[in-house]
Amino acid sequence: MSYVILDLEWNGSYSKSAHKFVNEIIEFGALKLDEELNIIDSFSALVSPKIGKRMNTRVKALTKISFEELKKSGVSFQKASESFSEFLAGDILMTWGTSDLFTLMENYNFYTGDYHIPFLNRYCDLQVFCEKAMGIYDEGNQIGLGACAERLGIEFSEDEQHRADADAYLSLACLKRCIGDYPLESCVLDAETESFYECLTFKNRFITSLSDPAVDKNELRFCCDKCGAPAKRMKKWKMHNKHFTSEFYCKNCRRKFIGRIAFKQKYDTVVVSKRILEMPEKVKKSIEPKPADT
Ligand SMILES: [Zn+2]
Repeated sequence: MSYVILDLEWNGSYSKSAHKFVNEIIEFGALKLDEELNIIDSFSALVSPKIGKRMNTRVKALTKISFEELKKSGVSFQKASESFSEFLAGDILMTWGTSDLFTLMENYNFYTGDYHIPFLNRYCDLQVFCEKAMGIYDEGNQIGLGACAERLGIEFSEDEQHRADADAYLSLACLKRCIGDYPLESCVLDAETESFYECLTFKNRFITSLSDPAVDKNELRFCCDKCGAPAKRMKKWKMHNKHFTSEFYCKNCRRKFIGRIAFKQKYDTVVVSKRILEMPEKVKKSIEPKPADT
């Protein structure tokens, strides 16, 4: 089993024929690794732009690739992706985050009308793997490649980043630091199924109504955090941001608290997060026994 780390660079360009902006891929950079993560081959290709008429200033500053260089040494997207497909040869594709996949889908869709990535069989998101290995996995808050490398104490030059090959090397350095801390196989997905694409493009959302059928009503019960007994809900549920809150009362402890719950709808599951919060100070005081009673 071999792995290929791919990194792409792209240039946002307006397509008059499609009447929309397309993130046109301008560079492929990839490293092939054996099972021990040793580099056994590398791949790079510049893509001659078909849509863009000039380089986006930000892209040019980041990648230091000039439009002239691309026009002169680049090949067509079809040619570059076919060569890459031969290089990948059915191995496990790895990228840092899913934006490279989205950009590939966008480019395939632009040229062929089909967004499926023909060379993709098995896929591993290195960002997810490293986050899980570092114990910082949080879908709402993804760590950038540079930030991850810094956190792992990997030295790199900011100047060399944002070229496809340099980013692939840095992704590899992060992978090597994290390997052994989490099973890599568990992050390798079968990417030949339609559900892979459905899952990839699914937008997680917070459920905003408790009558949503995805809400498990049993989750709306709260137990007292002091004695563990079921607490009684005293108020109607209120929605604040993504959370629902209500007041609860434990008769054993004569304690009032706030129960807070959120339901996040993901592709194949609903993630419930629950917390018990103290009552706001002034409300709490009013239910505490008065000094004369003690
Ligand atoms: Zn209690």
